[in-house]
Amino acid sequence: MKRCTRCQDLKLHDEFAKRSRAKDGRTANCKVCLRERSQLHYLENRDAIRARNKAYTKRRRTEDPGYSAALNAWKYVKKKSPNAVYCKLEETVPIYRERCELGWGYVVDHIVPLKGENVCGLHIPNNLQVITLEENSLKGNKNPYDEPEK
Ligand SMILES: [Zn+2]
Repeated sequence: MKRCTRCQDLKLHDEFAKRSRAKDGRTANCKVCLRERSQLHYLENRDAIRARNKAYTKRRRTEDPGYSAALNAWKYVKKKSPNAVYCKLEETVPIYRERCELGWGYVVDHIVPLKGENVCGLHIPNNLQVITLEENSLKGNKNPYDEPEK
């Protein structure tokens, strides 16, 4: 048991976040307090935080076409299928970077379509592949794992 220095409650060690630098390997404040503190910090500094994030995105977009393409795809997919399963944006960046390096004529394809007939694909690296425009138009919205029609 450990006492939180903020709310003064006595709590289990698991209820404190890990912190390797601390003597007991845990933060002085409990997770509930940490969450509260960061929410408060966000509310108090919302404009500055938003401006900083916006500047970061803008810089990444100009410096890294792969990031820019990944972000565009992310927004597109989110709009088209809000309930799809996503990984972190950063995990898809290398795939879009590869597409950018190959140049026009190549696209990033969802192997299992996001809106297939029987299943919905996922916006995750394992379901993404770089293929040519031609291959993509031949593929259409078919799920390669579906039984072939007879
Ligand atoms: Zn606390």
